[in-house]
Amino acid sequence: MNPFETLGLGPELVSAITRLGFEQPTPVQAQAIPILLSGEKDLIALAQTGTGKTAAFGLPLLSLLEPWSKETQGLVLCPTRELCLQITKDLQRYAEDLPAFKIVAVYGGANIQTQIREIKNGAQIIVATPGRLVDLIDRRAINLETIRYVILDEADEMLNVGFKDALDLILSKTPKDKLTWLFSATLPNEVQVIASRYMHQPVEIQAGQRNQGNENIDHICYVVKPRDRYQTLKRILDAHPEIFGIVFCRTKAETQQVADLLHQDGYPAESLHGDLSQLQRDQVMRKFRNRSIQLLVATDVAARGIDVSDISHIINYNLPDEPEVYTHRSGRTARAGKKGVSILIAAPGDVRRIGLIERTLKQPIRQEEVPSGTLILDRQIGHFLETIRDTKVESELMERFLPRLHETMEGLSTDDILKRFFVAGIHRFLPYGMGLEDIETAGSRRQGVRLRINLGRMDELDAQTLRDFLILMAGLEAKQIYALEINKSYTQLEVEPGCENKIMETFRDERYQGRRIRIELGDKLREGGDSGERRRSYSGGGRSSGGGGDRRGDRSGGGSRGGYSGNRRSDSRRTSDGGGEGARKSYPRG
Ligand code: AMP
Repeated sequence: MNPFETLGLGPELVSAITRLGFEQPTPVQAQAIPILLSGEKDLIALAQTGTGKTAAFGLPLLSLLEPWSKETQGLVLCPTRELCLQITKDLQRYAEDLPAFKIVAVYGGANIQTQIREIKNGAQIIVATPGRLVDLIDRRAINLETIRYVILDEADEMLNVGFKDALDLILSKTPKDKLTWLFSATLPNEVQVIASRYMHQPVEIQAGQRNQGNENIDHICYVVKPRDRYQTLKRILDAHPEIFGIVFCRTKAETQQVADLLHQDGYPAESLHGDLSQLQRDQVMRKFRNRSIQLLVATDVAARGIDVSDISHIINYNLPDEPEVYTHRSGRTARAGKKGVSILIAAPGDVRRIGLIERTLKQPIRQEEVPSGTLILDRQIGHFLETIRDTKVESELMERFLPRLHETMEGLSTDDILKRFFVAGIHRFLPYGMGLEDIETAGSRRQGVRLRINLGRMDELDAQTLRDFLILMAGLEAKQIYALEINKSYTQLEVEPGCENKIMETFRDERYQGRRIRIELGDKLREGGDSGERRRSYSGGGRSSGGGGDRRGDRSGGGSRGGYSGNRRSDSRRTSDGGGEGARKSYPRG
């Protein structure tokens, strides 16, 4: 039995989603669908875009509605017009094999009269942005009294962009006995207020956070001089002839500038930003969706809510201001179990902030050399030859042009013709074979090794003290600790490769205020004391635990903060070479 049927969906829906390539329910679908199909419960689902949430509410909604009645029974509210259109299209696709359902999208920036007409013609489901819906309510163009199901999609985002009053108004116009299904990536207070005001004993479910640690995304960065940024972008694009991606820029002006340059240089790219008219934006999105362009150059705001599947690459033209933005951007690739690549073009000054992004992302970002001319030429030739090989030759076309072809090429051998076609086809990329200079990597992104130590603020340590303590104990140099982030009960470190062994070795069998020091490397938790050795202990100044004698025996009398003094092995007693300044800073924010 099809797993979606097992969840309780009917054959018409299952056949439609099978055509869309849905084989297995995503976690949010597996959890939500049976609950919603019961038609009795309100639901709060913590789920982000990309988790399959549209189908999670859309399929049960289509199952529960009465197609023969023309009344509006389902209302989906979402924050942006892009999302509104996306949801409408998705629902229409799911409903393809069902008796005629009318699903109407209602959003700002489009002709309101057309929308009113569509509603009047009878729409069982309305997908709306709150602002426009309030307009329609004010004009008495819509009747919400027949609504049986309300879906609040991206509820947190709706409240973020200021739709609280609109939501209050809309919800107050819907019947009391309707069911409400709320989907949100986060559950801030405002969302909980809405939930408690309008929902009855909702069931809560949580789907895995797609944006965090998607292992199907490969993260790569190139560190180059700012003036090489555009050339680097071109090389990345040239090295990936089949790219279908989004280039993120910081400002509208930069977005337009990069798109213009790419356009001039012959790349199938267009810009998407807030200075374009709605019509222009729609056109760009249509071209991107049907793949007549391969690249979208966009600002974060303009790209919000765009859900295009199969995006192969995300390119960050420069470092985003917040680490979360990087996570969000890269989450647009590698959807539904597919693979994707997220690329960051960084300047030498950005290097430390990349570490911060990695921590937010919980995944490493690998530094690579900018693709060389030889590599690009090789890839382009391979791509070109495959394209030629796989080209479908239409007989009608050939009938018309073959005589001309033969005539023009007369006297040339097949080999000659092949060679000429090849050179003509690959012409644009030939300079790469002419010893074009490599783009120099400007500053190396230090690839640190990450460690986690079970000492934190609750041990009366602060970042600086702990840093000094580690330097002193393990005989490190200040600059070998790339980053240190102290939390309540543990500290995360990033150190120069090789130093992790020194640290592990040093703190093997050690205690701090009676607690065994544990150091986690990668995903492995290593604990000191695997031998029968006597345990040493450190005790924090003035907060000695008063534990058993062995804990304090050889570490008593620590005068310095952090409590260390005593007979360390001489090889690890070296203090750092006065690297105080470097050591003082924990990594910068933002
Ligand atoms: P959403 O979170 O609703 O924006 O969905 C993200 C993407 O995953 C969309 O392109 C869906 O078409 C796709 N999708 C949703 N559910 C499944 C599934 N069960 N199997 C494969 N793809 C899915």
